[in-house]
Amino acid sequence: MNHAYQLPLDDARYNFGFMDEYAKREIRRAILKAICIPGYQTPYASREMPMGRGFGTGGLQLTLSLIGSDDTLKVIDQGSDDSVNAVNLRQFVANTCPGVETTSATEQASIIQSRHRIPELPLTETQTLVLQVPYPDALVVVESSEARRKTMHGEGDYSRLLTKLYEDMVKFKEITISHRYPTRINGHYVIDPSPVPRYDVPKLHQSAALTLFGAGREKKIYAVPPYTNAEPLVFDDVPFRIEDFRDAHGKRIACSRCGSQDSFLDELPMADGSKQWQCSDSDYCNQQLMKASMTRGLNA
Ligand SMILES: [Zn+2]
Repeated sequence: MNHAYQLPLDDARYNFGFMDEYAKREIRRAILKAICIPGYQTPYASREMPMGRGFGTGGLQLTLSLIGSDDTLKVIDQGSDDSVNAVNLRQFVANTCPGVETTSATEQASIIQSRHRIPELPLTETQTLVLQVPYPDALVVVESSEARRKTMHGEGDYSRLLTKLYEDMVKFKEITISHRYPTRINGHYVIDPSPVPRYDVPKLHQSAALTLFGAGREKKIYAVPPYTNAEPLVFDDVPFRIEDFRDAHGKRIACSRCGSQDSFLDELPMADGSKQWQCSDSDYCNQQLMKASMTRGLNA
């Protein structure tokens, strides 16, 4: 990636990528370490961003330290390119990184920053997925001391996390975690894969794209490098299950907009009290619609 180090002062008020070069270099070093030790939470000096922590500052710092003027950026929030948070983040990068193209088409993006979803379309080796993370440590639900959590991670001791899953089985007859499903990376560290639904967890496994996780408030960066094993924590006799979107008769619900039966759906309450289901990935939904109208055109 090309990095334009300093813009002429009369051209822009900010350094390319908003942050100074020293900050970007430090983050890139943390990224390299995170890639070398898959799943390990690498500490870094999270910078102040001109937006509140909790609005994706961790992901934004990763994006800004990696992006070059030859990159194409896509930003999504809950699968949508048009939600307020996604629009603001995309606008901020566009304003501070002259030359960077933005897109809503998944296959055209070289960097995809996301909150709560991984795109439906399988990513490729030339793409980097940046996920915004509120809570980086999967062990935080069972151990409050960070020092003790570090030891447990080092020893690969996730027995208390498994006990928690087992308690779920006893109480509800199944594991009830819907988001942030603890996932073991490369056979050792267990990560919090950020609040993506269970549906998206298998997409991390042996993904061709590099996946980076940035927690701005907690000051941690971790990674799932390309072609790395990512296995959700399960028991031998209780297989991992993703959301299957079936109606009362066991039939797969289709998107009410594009008709797709193989995407993650959002439930939309209607004014009359009924429910509708639509693809959560808006770019995927648009593409399916376009394909359907082209087929109709060819058949006409
Ligand atoms: Zn759809």
